[in-house]
Amino acid sequence: MVDFDFTEEQLMVREMARAFAQKEVAPHAHTWDENGTFPTEAIKKMGTLGLMGVAVPPEYGGAGFDTVSYVLAMEEISLACAGTSVAMSVNNSLACDPILKFGNEAQKQKFLKPMASGKLLGCFALSEPGNGSDAGAAQCTATLTADGRHYVVEGTKNFITNGPNADLCILFATTDRAKGNKGISAFISEMPAPGLTVGPNEKKLGIKASSTSQLIYENCLIPVDNRLGNEGDGFKIAMATLDGGRIGIAAQALGIARAAYEAAGRYALERKAFGAPIANLQAIQFKLADMATRLEAARLLTLQAAVLKDRKVRHTKESAMAKLYASEAAMWIATQGIQVHGGYGYLKDYPAERHFRDAKITELYEGTSEIQRLVIALNVLKELAG
Ligand SMILES: Cc1cc2nc3c(=O)[nH]c(=O)nc-3n(C[C@H](O)[C@H](O)[C@H](O)COP(=O)(O)OP(=O)(O)OC[C@H]3O[C@@H](n4cnc5c(N)ncnc54)[C@H](O)[C@@H]3O)c2cc1C
Repeated sequence: MVDFDFTEEQLMVREMARAFAQKEVAPHAHTWDENGTFPTEAIKKMGTLGLMGVAVPPEYGGAGFDTVSYVLAMEEISLACAGTSVAMSVNNSLACDPILKFGNEAQKQKFLKPMASGKLLGCFALSEPGNGSDAGAAQCTATLTADGRHYVVEGTKNFITNGPNADLCILFATTDRAKGNKGISAFISEMPAPGLTVGPNEKKLGIKASSTSQLIYENCLIPVDNRLGNEGDGFKIAMATLDGGRIGIAAQALGIARAAYEAAGRYALERKAFGAPIANLQAIQFKLADMATRLEAARLLTLQAAVLKDRKVRHTKESAMAKLYASEAAMWIATQGIQVHGGYGYLKDYPAERHFRDAKITELYEGTSEIQRLVIALNVLKELAG
């Protein structure tokens, strides 16, 4: 593999994330998955290592690295435990990034600093029970009080990663329904708060170490000072945030895929059938060859999107391509991983079945594969039309 000319700093971040993940995360991944344990202590330590605000400047509590470093670190943490890495991904991409990009100085000091340094945990609440892909159809409302000092928020947000453990939420609610998605606004919602109920932790197929819940707003007051950007900027903020978020999920998929590939490779070299290791069989070799190829392709697309983000170039299409390709590669590689393990791949004694369950989510959140294709098609049609 080309080393992509990583800088010393990027390589240092990858090594640090790898050492931490292998020592403090990987040994617990099976148990956290079995018990649905949220890795509170590991996440605190990730905060002290700068992993909760990798690309946030140090003056706002972050580590001051770049998106490429973030991708390298995400791959390492995801290789060890995808449930842990999604908490990191949401905090970095979906909670810190929008405040860094759209917040005012006071909001950066008050909210970004503690989040990027890992003292507070963030979440991002766009989806609702009735609309996920169609985010512009938000039913949650935010109405200005008569004195103009607060918004009253009403409505339910659904599937919120980190919800049960979060201290701050980037919340989207409509301030003017008549304007459709141009009437959606973004807020920093402090948690806990009167009028905000956090639903029970959802029981999921995979990423079981991650926590997911509804956030139910009933007559909940949010200060006007906590509005992110202007009224009506919410949809734009959400979409720009997801452009970055999808790079993080692509990197997560990459880590899961690598875990599945490496486990399959190790097993193929050890397991004997018909008197020789199954790695001697061309049927298994071709699987490993295809797995390795898709893994490399996913990595290149993910790094390309990260480089564009670092160059501050529009990367909507490239992020969607990276997320689409890497997530489908992860699902495919994890499926082949089980096949290579034969019947043992179906048992919890081997990590292949966890990789398979964890891979699936990457095709769903931060826009399903269908939505990524929609985003890519819109962009390529524009390019084709000149
Ligand atoms: C574990 C987990 C964690 C999550 N974390 C968060 C979070 O932190 N914050 C948050 O806001 N959301 C989160 N989500 C929500 C997630 O982003 C949505 O589930 C996802 O965007 C899909 O929305 P939906 O479930 O409402 O499906 P729907 O939008 O109802 O889609 C159902 C099916 O229809 C397809 N479809 C819909 N519209 C189109 C279209 N126009 N063209 C083609 N196909 C289409 C979809 O691809 C899908 O196959 C999370 C979800 C899960 C499961």
